[in-house]
Amino acid sequence: MNAIERLKQAAGPNGYSDDANEIAPHLTEWRGKYTGHSPLLLKPASAGELSALLAICHETGTAVVPQGGNTGLVGGQIPFHGEVLVSTKRLNKVRTVDPHAPALVVEAGVTLAGVQQAAHEAGLFFPLSLASEGSCTIGGNISTNAGGTHVIRYGMTRALVLGLEVVLADGRILDLLRLLPKDNTGYDLKQLFIGAEGTLGIVTAAALKLFPQPKSRAVGFAAVASPAAALDLLGQMQARTGGLVSAFELLPRLALELVLAHIPGTRDPLSAPSPWYVLVEATAGEGVDLTTLFESGLMGADDAVVAASAAQGAALWKLRESISEAQKLEGASIKHDIAVPVAKVPEFLAVTVPQVLKLAPGARPVSFGHLGDGNLHFNFQSPQPGDDKPFLALWEEMQLIVHDAVHGFGGSISAEHGIGIMKRDALPRYKSHAELDAMRAVKAAFDPKNILNPGKLVPPVLRL
Ligand SMILES: Cc1cc2nc3c(=O)[nH]c(=O)nc-3n(C[C@H](O)[C@H](O)[C@H](O)COP(=O)(O)OP(=O)(O)OC[C@H]3O[C@@H](n4cnc5c(N)ncnc54)[C@H](O)[C@@H]3O)c2cc1C
Repeated sequence: MNAIERLKQAAGPNGYSDDANEIAPHLTEWRGKYTGHSPLLLKPASAGELSALLAICHETGTAVVPQGGNTGLVGGQIPFHGEVLVSTKRLNKVRTVDPHAPALVVEAGVTLAGVQQAAHEAGLFFPLSLASEGSCTIGGNISTNAGGTHVIRYGMTRALVLGLEVVLADGRILDLLRLLPKDNTGYDLKQLFIGAEGTLGIVTAAALKLFPQPKSRAVGFAAVASPAAALDLLGQMQARTGGLVSAFELLPRLALELVLAHIPGTRDPLSAPSPWYVLVEATAGEGVDLTTLFESGLMGADDAVVAASAAQGAALWKLRESISEAQKLEGASIKHDIAVPVAKVPEFLAVTVPQVLKLAPGARPVSFGHLGDGNLHFNFQSPQPGDDKPFLALWEEMQLIVHDAVHGFGGSISAEHGIGIMKRDALPRYKSHAELDAMRAVKAAFDPKNILNPGKLVPPVLRL
């Protein structure tokens, strides 16, 4: 019996599909940039089932690609070479909630919105928040070390993981599901799987840190003259609120204009245009006069509006969250998910935007994002709607300019989306031989037959 037939037999009738119609949605990613092919979709419902399947893959040298919600933006979840797909969608149980830790244990295929809901039902709060939260899974969030809008207060996914359960390449189950904030018993192995993009093991469950539910929330939209002024405002907001800022998002005027032009039901919340804006949110527990603290923090802005209701807060957030969609509706854009040290953001923008415009005269900069983390979506819109083809032909060259600049500022060419296939070959330009060799050694130790998401994340050794 060949490997595919053995996998089908081990999976049982509910545990696999070879129906092309059922497999098709798993082959193309959200933006339609990458498409793959696969003969088989495995759908294990427990770590034990996955363990039996991976043991067969290991024995037969069958390559697999793990997939959660298929919302990844760097092609990591796509089977480019006909690998077997492993969907985590049936690993969908909330196992336990521990109100004292406080923490919960969920299986990898639970959506991020499902994790937030389970925490909410227990009177607690899980702070990870992404625009894709209705579809992405916690296993995918862990495997990409996802960021989002609340990193400034709660950290990346890595900071929220207490323990993991992982099935290794040879099928063994690694039980690291500990609810311990303190555990100094040697290598912290779970960290290796966070951000590993499915190249070292398949995450089947996670113990996640929970927080008290915020009792009050303030949302404001402020006009500032420049990114440097936005950073000053951030310092002031943090000082006045005692570190209660939970989101601090930078937007240029063009981002707002694109949203107002393309997204129905949006309006400019301020009376006069400003070159830059920030969307700021703060949350607090009981007994804190958040509104007074928040408004005093916003005094440094040129103009500002504070939401008077949850609906107004949602309307302000909609301006920020619609930027990607508005960019798409406007036409072609070239995007970069980058980070530089927070204090360097203004200088990075001042130096790098002109370099890009030299390559692409007339391109329209739409640099927005998580200023509090130094993470910008450093995007450029085509000079005119309809100019798409010649503009998109500059993709590689523009990326090189941007990534070189980011590197020069001590930054990262992937702040939160990961490496996948999209940025894999860029890594050797920015990482030392020692760092790349260490990555390859870790990969070889956990996956000696190279069957877990082969070709993703870890650059091959160049042979000259
Ligand atoms: C509209 C939109 C907004 C987004 N906003 C953000 C944002 O603000 N911040 C951010 O960080 N990202 C964002 N993303 C990117 C994406 O949602 C995240 O990368 C998310 O964490 C991926 O989760 P997923 O379940 O969809 O994973 P997939 O896309 O299915 O997989 C992503 C990677 O993880 C691996 N993987 C998945 N599950 C497992 C598992 N259980 N074990 C091992 N490996 C696994 C895959 O092989 C692949 O390499 C956004 C995407 C969209 C479409």
